[in-house]
Amino acid sequence: MELKVRTRNKNDVVDLTRQIAELVRQADLEQGLCHVYVPHATAAIIVNENDDPQIGQDLLTALDGLIPEGVWLHDKVDENGASHLKATILGPSETVPIRRGRLALGTWQAIMLVDFDGPRDRTAIVTLTRA
Ligand code: ZN
Repeated sequence: MELKVRTRNKNDVVDLTRQIAELVRQADLEQGLCHVYVPHATAAIIVNENDDPQIGQDLLTALDGLIPEGVWLHDKVDENGASHLKATILGPSETVPIRRGRLALGTWQAIMLVDFDGPRDRTAIVTLTRA
């Protein structure tokens, strides 16, 4: 299954939890795994809090502090070396257990797509497996 995600800024955090929870509900899996993956070199999938969306902003700010813009070899190719490095650190996927037919997320956890080279149309691939 694929989710189409439109990001709005160069750096953006988009909460996918509601849409993924709906896919899990429709799949009618009692126990299993939910794998979420982005087939993009400058985007990532994370699991963290979005009840306070400032955490997503803090994440972007922290990565900006760690990884400066415009100093990387890849910038000579298409000027987005920092975007690739940030996406690599976070990684392209997360796996969440399915228990009793639902995502086993903690109260404050959400599944989010993070874009470092938007705004653009992104795809998240959701794979559900019985376990
Ligand atoms: Zn590039």
